[in-house]
Amino acid sequence: MANESIGLYIHAPFCVKKCSYCAFNSVKKPEDTSGMCTALSTEFIRRTQQDSFEFQTFYAGGGTPTLLPPEFWMRLISMVQTPSLRELTIETNPATLDAIDYSSLLLSGFNRISVGVQSFNDKNLSLLGRRHTAGEAMESLKLIAGTGFRNISLDLMYGLPGQTPEDQQRDIEKTLRFMPQHISAYDLALEPGTPMGDRGEKASENQCADMYYQIHEMLTANGYIHYEVSSYALEDKFRSLHNSSYWNRTPYIGIGPSAHSFSGTKRSWNVSGIIEYETALLYGELPEESSEDLTAENGAHEVLALGFRNTNGVDLGVLAGFGFKLNPTDILSTGFVKQKGNLLIPDEKGMLFADHLACKAAELLENVQGFDEPH
Ligand code: SF4
Repeated sequence: MANESIGLYIHAPFCVKKCSYCAFNSVKKPEDTSGMCTALSTEFIRRTQQDSFEFQTFYAGGGTPTLLPPEFWMRLISMVQTPSLRELTIETNPATLDAIDYSSLLLSGFNRISVGVQSFNDKNLSLLGRRHTAGEAMESLKLIAGTGFRNISLDLMYGLPGQTPEDQQRDIEKTLRFMPQHISAYDLALEPGTPMGDRGEKASENQCADMYYQIHEMLTANGYIHYEVSSYALEDKFRSLHNSSYWNRTPYIGIGPSAHSFSGTKRSWNVSGIIEYETALLYGELPEESSEDLTAENGAHEVLALGFRNTNGVDLGVLAGFGFKLNPTDILSTGFVKQKGNLLIPDEKGMLFADHLACKAAELLENVQGFDEPH
């Protein structure tokens, strides 16, 4: 993975309290986070000491990465700093409003912040088990903008049980008062093992589709570009570079418990337990749990699964590079996908039905080179 454009993801596994829908790897923040900070820095050094990397993006996610001290982030960013680094994002949660020094984060080098608002409706926030109120979310956004962040992403969630189109309209109207540079609007996912997932609490499939179109219409009418199924940017330059690199299959290194890495030909992932993770690093090992070499067929299927979710689309030339040909006639006949040269580009309906399109396209793939070796 040396000397190529690459992303860096850091997983900070601590939260104030677990939300009712959350299946991310996170636990309650301990008093002392210094062990985790040391472990994350050690893993970064160990994974990068053999090669030089041209990091393009740095993404601090979790968990709630703003629960780790700004000095830790400043040190880590100074270790990573390369001239190629363009986008440095940190996720934050309005529940930690009082504890966060946003100007220190800006000084550390972050130039983008992603705020987990989810809703401006207190009833829905409480249903989701969020620790913050709508008022605190608004305070956070004002504070962050006042601090000087000029690239703010705001997360919204839809598909909640009992959520009405009017509820959602109010959420979007309140979002538009801030006109954040980026909005991520996620359909609530029911994850097994979470309180909401186990109770099966969610709006019906038709209601979710209606809410998806409502968001699309309101945000695009207000100048946002809908460039991925859940993502909207106020201008092209505000598209998430880091997330786009996942969809384009750009290599990335993941640091932290349960973080995934992708070399272009291999996917690997870390152990998820905090103690297991810290202990492996303490004993001079990499905390890797397992890995998988990708075959050409795996690669082609990933191109389909990711490509129909965003407006960069599926590149038939990339499929050919994997030894596969796709006759797009049946895909184009859905009416949700247009062809531009080698690209099959979904519209908003195509992105909503990306999984169906990818399955259909996978059935139509023709292996023209007859190989299925690690690629
Ligand atoms: S703040 Fe985010 S990572 Fe933490 S529990 Fe809630 S949804 Fe999960």
